[in-house]
Amino acid sequence: MGRTVVVLGGGISGLAASYYLSRAPCAPKVVLVEGSERLGGWIRSVRGPDGAVFELGPRGIRPAGALGARTLLLVSELGLDSEVLPVRGDHPAARNRFLYVGGALHALPSGIRGLLRPSPPFSKPLFWAGLRDLTTPRGKDPDETVHSFAQRRLGSEVASLAMDSLCRGVFAGNSRELSVRSCFPSLFQAEQTHRSILLGLLLGAGRGPQLDSALIRQARAERWSQWSLRGGLETLPQALNAHLTSRGVSVLQGQPVCGLSLQAEGRWKVSLGDSSLEADHIISAIPASVLSKLLPAEAAPLARALSTITAVSVAVVNLQYRGARLPVQGFGHLVPSSEDPVILGIVYDSVAFPEQDGSSPGLRLTVMLGGSWLQTLEARGCVLSQELFQQEAEKAAATQLGLNEPPSHCLVHLHKNSIPQYTLGHWQKLESAAQFLAAQKLPLTLAGASYEGVAVNDCIESGRQAAARVLGTEPNS
Ligand SMILES: Cc1cc2nc3c(=O)[nH]c(=O)nc-3n(C[C@H](O)[C@H](O)[C@H](O)COP(=O)(O)OP(=O)(O)OC[C@H]3O[C@@H](n4cnc5c(N)ncnc54)[C@H](O)[C@@H]3O)c2cc1C
Repeated sequence: MGRTVVVLGGGISGLAASYYLSRAPCAPKVVLVEGSERLGGWIRSVRGPDGAVFELGPRGIRPAGALGARTLLLVSELGLDSEVLPVRGDHPAARNRFLYVGGALHALPSGIRGLLRPSPPFSKPLFWAGLRDLTTPRGKDPDETVHSFAQRRLGSEVASLAMDSLCRGVFAGNSRELSVRSCFPSLFQAEQTHRSILLGLLLGAGRGPQLDSALIRQARAERWSQWSLRGGLETLPQALNAHLTSRGVSVLQGQPVCGLSLQAEGRWKVSLGDSSLEADHIISAIPASVLSKLLPAEAAPLARALSTITAVSVAVVNLQYRGARLPVQGFGHLVPSSEDPVILGIVYDSVAFPEQDGSSPGLRLTVMLGGSWLQTLEARGCVLSQELFQQEAEKAAATQLGLNEPPSHCLVHLHKNSIPQYTLGHWQKLESAAQFLAAQKLPLTLAGASYEGVAVNDCIESGRQAAARVLGTEPNS
């Protein structure tokens, strides 16, 4: 009898793991178990009354690097090339990003000339931050907060304005708590290997296996900064689901896993309420803290390590304005915590992807709210009404972008515990989990946003690597 692999969680990580398992020459029997009625996890695209696309989760995928290329290859394998909406290198959404500081929008400098010019809100040209990086010795600690790392290497202003905002934009988190080693591994490695972020990024670029396809070549030639899909990014999990079904993978939806136990001969019993499954191996692509509650007593040390990988909530408010114009053209702007504790940033969706504007074009924006403000409200058990988030989002659109008329369409979603936080020492949690799994020879592989990257590209890669480990093949091939 062939092996059975059960994949927990039908977000992009679990879908990717199932996809790469199902394509193996001697594929095991694969069962994907999703707790909700929908696949895709945080990737969710909905249509407005005029057909406009509103992304409730991710809205753009970066094509850069080996992981970006891997996702483009997946897109081509799924037959989605004609659906891709690229943001080309010469487009304003690729060139312009802003910080909202001191009540005004400031364009982030780009190119060498941009670094030499004065660039408010920074008091000196960013050239000086680069010089500081080149002359600062290598750090000695095995990990450091993003803030401390940036302050040491690039100075206080870059740390408290740029890196603070970046941590809010990517992780909805606090740069004074997040780990540079785990959140920005390329910066950490650049310092470790080349003693400088700048040298490391310059000299270390271009390594790794070079994947090739027509779409990858096009993305490189046109210097895409990101891409989406015509019907929204949820098209990707939908296409993966169709592929899995055609390959004979059992995809169970609306079946939350409520317990895992180990049986004789090292097989798993996966409890699903009133039924159960047997598995030779499990790939877990559900959040670490959820898995920690499902593990059996024999895996208590692993459960303890996983339970400490927490996640924060983000409120996403999609707004559409008829006949409105933005004061600037670009991808969007980020807001440092010192400027506004409520708003993480605003994405100008219509600039990057006008094709998704619908039949009666209006300006689409997404306001992201969160950070310490939301954490404090949650900790106090406050009522978090849709009206509160809508009011705050409309206020931000008016103050920060001058959009004073009420929006014609608005969607509000609170995504509870949606972004894992890789806090200082995250790498030790991963190491202790890996050591436990190896020592106990548990037939369990971890994948998903809880571990080594929250971006869609990272999640797909984590699913691919998990599948390769289960199949005993080389993950980098
Ligand atoms: C608002 C927002 C904006 C983002 N923007 C971007 C962006 O622009 N670009 C980008 O690259 N990334 C972005 N991200 C990050 C990225 O979307 C996520 O990190 C990624 O989608 C997570 O995928 P996952 O499969 O690891 O986890 P999830 O999407 O959380 O999937 C886990 C799945 O497991 C299921 N599950 C949970 N418990 C159980 C159980 N007991 N039994 C069975 N199933 C269970 C859940 O229902 C879910 O479907 C964004 C994230 C958010 C929240």
